[in-house]
Amino acid sequence: MKLSFHRYDLRLKHTFTIAHDSRDVQPSLIVELAYTLPDGRVIRGFGEATSNKYYGITLDSMIADLSAIRPLIESGQWQSAEELWALAHPQLQQNPFAQCALDEAAHDLMAKRAGQPLYAYWGLDASNIPLTNYTIGIDTVEKMVAKMQELPWPLYKIKLGTSDDLAIVRELRRHTDATFRVDANCAWTAAQTIAYAPELQQLGVEFIEQPLKAGDWEGQQQVFAHSVLPVIADESCIVENDVDKCINYFHGINIKLTKCGGLTPARRMIENARANNLRVMVGCMNETSVGISAIGQLLPLLDYVDMDGTLLITNDPASGVTFDYGRVIYAAENGTGAQLLSV
Ligand SMILES: [Mg+2]
Repeated sequence: MKLSFHRYDLRLKHTFTIAHDSRDVQPSLIVELAYTLPDGRVIRGFGEATSNKYYGITLDSMIADLSAIRPLIESGQWQSAEELWALAHPQLQQNPFAQCALDEAAHDLMAKRAGQPLYAYWGLDASNIPLTNYTIGIDTVEKMVAKMQELPWPLYKIKLGTSDDLAIVRELRRHTDATFRVDANCAWTAAQTIAYAPELQQLGVEFIEQPLKAGDWEGQQQVFAHSVLPVIADESCIVENDVDKCINYFHGINIKLTKCGGLTPARRMIENARANNLRVMVGCMNETSVGISAIGQLLPLLDYVDMDGTLLITNDPASGVTFDYGRVIYAAENGTGAQLLSV
């Protein structure tokens, strides 16, 4: 087994602005696990994590933390991605982004070795999977309309957190019949959320993502009791232990693979959420086709998905899942289906 790293600077199609960040370039790390078969053929598994200022994660920190456990990874003394995850976790618990990239690569490799798409390797049936939304970042309302018109889509996620969020949604609604979902990225109060929800519902919004600050459980309890729209946790649900905290405070959770540490914990979070009647969404973090194709494997388990990362970058170094008006189309290759274009 050989571990290697590929660094990229992903160019974003639009300056990406949400309530607490704004950027044009997104550094990303792709982790490769190469396994040589007895006949000399090489099978390559790929995983990815983008850097994240908010969490203090850089490509260098991910490479350093994974290099520190190179002997464990390359020993091949693990029989499954889940086993590697557990073996690596004590060293990587401060760097879930690195653990995610490694875990995706291990899953991709194991499914490729088994000759199956990863979802099938897990025993899932992908005949009925949710559409992905396309995200409209915060901008002037004219530019938000233009971004929407640039890519006609049946389902948009609108980033909010401005001084007049309802005006934005009203204006966007004048230009499309698409379903909306909104993400306030912690910018609202409980009173605002409860007050906005009826009009948002009339404007065709299906749910509100993370309206309140992550620690505001008292406010969230009010929102849960009084909002006419379902509310989905994002910043309030980062790691596995957070799922239990969201029960009776949120209607669902949005899982990010890089923040929770990969597909292995994400599947456990999904199982726990389902057992507690929470709806499940998976979101992305500006990944290339490597990370997005990994997310795609979870689709049969999800209610909602936000996997538009590859639609928001202009220099995707990989191939993988593709999209047709919100519909996700799996790649022909096994594993996650992702391939680096230069390998
Ligand atoms: Mg969000």
